[in-house]
Amino acid sequence: MGDGAFSNVYKARYRKSGQKVAIKVVRKYELNSNQRANVLKEVQIMRTLKHDGIVKLLEFSESRDHYYLVLELLEGGELFHQIVKLTYFSEALARHVILQVANGIRYLHEERGIVHRDIKPENLLFESIKIIPSKIDKARPYDEDKEDEGEFMPDIGGGGIGKVKIADFGLSKVVWEESTMTPCGTVGYTAPEIVKDERYSKSVDMWALGCVLYTLLCGFPPFYDESISVLTEKVAKGYYTFLSPWWDDISGSAKDLITHLLCVDTSKRFTIDEFLAHPWCTVKDPVPDLNS
Ligand code: ADP
Ligand code: MG
Repeated sequence: MGDGAFSNVYKARYRKSGQKVAIKVVRKYELNSNQRANVLKEVQIMRTLKHDGIVKLLEFSESRDHYYLVLELLEGGELFHQIVKLTYFSEALARHVILQVANGIRYLHEERGIVHRDIKPENLLFESIKIIPSKIDKARPYDEDKEDEGEFMPDIGGGGIGKVKIADFGLSKVVWEESTMTPCGTVGYTAPEIVKDERYSKSVDMWALGCVLYTLLCGFPPFYDESISVLTEKVAKGYYTFLSPWWDDISGSAKDLITHLLCVDTSKRFTIDEFLAHPWCTVKDPVPDLNS
């Protein structure tokens, strides 16, 4: 289902129950001891996560050469592919997707003190797919006989888009003690720059969320350049624009929200609670009617 630098993800089935799962097979033999420790950390973190917006780890085992992460199967594919297919999402669809991701992030940040650190469309997966005709605003209920007339689309159930979940905790980190919500480590002796860093480290996910939202709405990312050094410079300065004509018809409210996420000053960047409280997110028609 996917290949990474050190892993391959396979679709699999439990022989006894018939349950379909995904297995992330990590090539242990290619990893040094530090990288191995990171995989075990990823497993430790995933084991404790219980949220509808986050991919579940069902089982873990290892052999001499491999680690095996048995995961809840998400057959709908990456958000990345849906963006490529659709070019861009309507505001209502984008809202429906991003709110699910944001609720997952809220659980990580506020309830568990965890930062994901690798939020991007490749790591956001749809639960299921159905087939609809090529234009999303002409969506109709799934009809098996008409399969080859349409394109694969994320599950359009009850007029809405399907469930989206956060995957890939390979870079995630516990930064905030769960019970006390203080930085990890002995607080009394922690230097202010560490306390601040830990606090702001959640903000890396918020920047990434801003990049995902921007991309959903227009179909291309906020920061891009063929030259890595120019791109790095653009990101460092937070230099992006709402390019015309692509952004002309997108609401001021959406732009305002993005402005508060793609904000270089981490102390001014929205937290997840500020994000969820923004008027663009609290609009009361979160499930777009795709049949009208
Ligand atoms: P990597 O660290 O290599 O990026 P990921 O955990 O992101 O590993 O998995 C790589 C790819 O495999 C994902 O982008 C996705 O396409 C696919 N994948 C991962 N987990 C699942 C899953 N639970 N269900 C379906 N596909 C998955
Ligand atoms: Mg990944």
